[in-house]
Amino acid sequence: TRWVYSFGGGGADGDASMKNLLGGKGANLAEMSSLGLPVPPGFTITTECCTHYYANDRQYPADLKAQVEQGLAKVEELTGKTFGDPKNPLLVSVRSGARASMPGMMDTVLNLGLNDQTVEGLAALAGDRRFAFDSYRRFIQMYSNVVLGLDHHMFEEILDEHKERLDVTVDTGLAAEDWERVVADYKAQVENELGQPFPQDPHAQLWGAIGAVFASWMNDRAKFYRRMHDIPESWGTAVNVQSMVFGNMGETSATGVAFTRNPSTGENRLYGEFLINAQGEDVVAGIRTPQALTRAAREEMGEKAPSMEEALPEVFVQFKDVVERLERHYRDMQDIEFTVERGRLYMLQTRNGKRTAKAALKVAVDLASEGLITEEEAVMRVEPASLDQLLHPTIDPASPRDVIATGLPASPGAATGKIVFDADTAEKLGGAGEAVILVREETSPEDIRGMDAARGIVTARGGMTSHAAVVARGMGRPCVSGAGELRIDGKSGELYARGRTFKEGDVISIDGSTGEVLAGVVKMIEPELSGDFATLMGWADKVRRLKVRANAETALDAKTARQFGAEGIGLCRTEHMFFDPARIAAVREMILADDEAGRRQALEKILPMQRDDFVQLFEIMEGLPVTIRLLDPPLHEFLPHTEEDVAAVAQATGLDAAKLLRRAKELHEVNPMLGHRGCRLGVAYPEIYEIQVQAIIEAALEVAASGKAAPCPEIMHPLVAKGEEMAFLRRLTDRIAEKVMADKGRRIDYQVGTMIELPRAAIRADDLAQHAEFFSFGTNDLTQTTFGISRDDSGRFLGAYIDKGIFEKDPFVSLDQEGVGDLIRIAAERGRKARPGVKLGICGEHGGDPASIAFCEDAGLDYVSCSPYRVPIARLAAAQAAI
Ligand code: ADP
Ligand code: MG
Ligand code: MG
Repeated sequence: TRWVYSFGGGGADGDASMKNLLGGKGANLAEMSSLGLPVPPGFTITTECCTHYYANDRQYPADLKAQVEQGLAKVEELTGKTFGDPKNPLLVSVRSGARASMPGMMDTVLNLGLNDQTVEGLAALAGDRRFAFDSYRRFIQMYSNVVLGLDHHMFEEILDEHKERLDVTVDTGLAAEDWERVVADYKAQVENELGQPFPQDPHAQLWGAIGAVFASWMNDRAKFYRRMHDIPESWGTAVNVQSMVFGNMGETSATGVAFTRNPSTGENRLYGEFLINAQGEDVVAGIRTPQALTRAAREEMGEKAPSMEEALPEVFVQFKDVVERLERHYRDMQDIEFTVERGRLYMLQTRNGKRTAKAALKVAVDLASEGLITEEEAVMRVEPASLDQLLHPTIDPASPRDVIATGLPASPGAATGKIVFDADTAEKLGGAGEAVILVREETSPEDIRGMDAARGIVTARGGMTSHAAVVARGMGRPCVSGAGELRIDGKSGELYARGRTFKEGDVISIDGSTGEVLAGVVKMIEPELSGDFATLMGWADKVRRLKVRANAETALDAKTARQFGAEGIGLCRTEHMFFDPARIAAVREMILADDEAGRRQALEKILPMQRDDFVQLFEIMEGLPVTIRLLDPPLHEFLPHTEEDVAAVAQATGLDAAKLLRRAKELHEVNPMLGHRGCRLGVAYPEIYEIQVQAIIEAALEVAASGKAAPCPEIMHPLVAKGEEMAFLRRLTDRIAEKVMADKGRRIDYQVGTMIELPRAAIRADDLAQHAEFFSFGTNDLTQTTFGISRDDSGRFLGAYIDKGIFEKDPFVSLDQEGVGDLIRIAAERGRKARPGVKLGICGEHGGDPASIAFCEDAGLDYVSCSPYRVPIARLAAAQAAI
């Protein structure tokens, strides 16, 4: 097997299409090299090698060693340097790179190949001792941390001691001999900790680093990131070994990162940061404040330090040209790493840039308008779930702003929450449902869970490409980075800003679009749904086959749903209308009634209220279909249970307390979700469903009579299991509807159907379809009844199932396409056989989940229905499923 692919010198063994084998970084290094761009030569060890390694008890394939040596020999040839040669040493970086980019999740080692001899060779070659020892100390620190597992703090402490002794504050204040002493102390520290000296053999260093990259595929950060982004563990990572170029060789050397467009807003303008006389991760780590790339950007930010355009004008012209070429070549916004070594440009990485939802939208629409991609490609470029970020509130511009600090607008959107200073507390409180804002000096990959649990993130240090900024944008969390005015005292749990003190737990707000940190709560406003959003949704609607409806029962929800483009209501849960305090008294009266007559009397009070609800919904939906589900929950849910509550209700309503308590006890069920609920209520107490049907038909007739668009009611019976049940309910519905229409002397079209929520209903769907004109798959209950897992209790053990890989995802969030999916396919097929054209839809949480929507497209359903805020997500997901 071939495990090693070379690149460099204007050619490569691989190319951009080989991401699965070479990882994203390796494939793009190969591609850039073939394009003739200046890429330091190197080679990539394949992801298959990683898979082999884990499949074989962490053993390398037998022929790997020879292939690596060959790869290395090629690099030596291209660079004219020799690995381990004390006179003319080749140094390399060892970099991880999976198929999907996992920024900061895996570890990189730079300057590998340095030891006590080669460092002298490097110094002589560069004519710069300071540079050589600066590189050596960086190498020892990184290697010790990544490969030998030592804490990087111990090295920082040593460096701080030296700085204190020398009375300097910045690294650049150290001279060659100072770095030599730092190196000596570092090496002593390693020997002290590990009982053996720092490895001096470059080949041993190389194999140590390769092993560490493979091992990092299984570290906690990587696992967590994979789970969050649905990246399979089986993919593995590649290892890139690449000859070093040096951005830390003085004032004409630099390192930086660039985006071809603004990753936060999508604006079509070169964007990024760089640092003179620095190496690799200095920019991302937020150690020094980076400088702008263009003069315009520098002026806009009011910075003094010169931009790359000003400091390195010739390289900048070349750089701009390369960057534009890369964007045209990849037909997408690129995220680029580069280094300038003594005035010469080198490209170290390019990939499709991560971006906010807002930027994704703008870039996709712009690229299509620029003719670089088609409308359909633009539709595919935006991740449906990410639209969520655009559909949520921002701070009302009219609201007073009590600004306590300004930083960089690192990730848009606004959030309010309590201050917490560490990731663990954020995780704990956020997990318990509290709104918290994580406030940190800077973040590191260990903070990722806390960042996920927080509503927003603030850092005092770091730029737009700092760890916090990149990760927050990826997660869709609002983030303000580099708010330098903030002084954080984690120990005392205090935050100082503009002369004020805030304690942990105090409420602040952040505006990730302006970079402001504000005291207290602020007023938020609803998002703007025109512009690029409307354009892209229009393109999506052109290609989509599935209709999208909303689950809604209130006027507000129905209006929101329509605003978001819902094409009807897929689920109106009538019981939600009963919990209204003004009505629940009548509902309770009905439940307490001793006989049918008593129940009917109470139901007569409910009738006009229900009718008004339906009138309102029909008016808002203007002739679009509205699926109304008749009463579903067990009746005891409407009754008070504790003696205290019973007394309060009795007092307020004049109902008899003893009777209330007795009735609540009578209605008690051991297993209410499998109990007297759904259409079982309609079978036992037909008058309840009769009144609801009457309310629906009367409302529909009323709206039609008023000259408005004729409503399209779909009356839905929940939890049906048998054909006979459906037959009974159908007769009941038609009888009442006919009676109402006869009374009013007008007719209206309506449909009668059922939810499919029980395995038996799915399997005997042909029986049901004899009497039902539509099915709506109630996949929340169907998942619950198929697995026999209570959705209310599953939280206690599903975590263990996911950790152990038994479930890939929570089946209540993403449809179990195998089991529950089979039931849906069976029901669709049998239902259609019995009644060609039976209308099929899905309601429940899965209706707004992109993966589940793709399933619905495959299964040939007619529509999906989801909560109003997910309607745009569903429209886009449905379009992508159809392309
Ligand atoms: P990540 O995936 O975390 O970005 P990288 O492998 O891209 O990790 O490397 C981390 C940093 O080191 C980047 O800033 C990169 O530009 C720099 N770097 C990597 N390889 C080299 C090299 N051969 N020469 C100079 N700098 C390098
Ligand atoms: Mg990188
Ligand atoms: Mg249900």
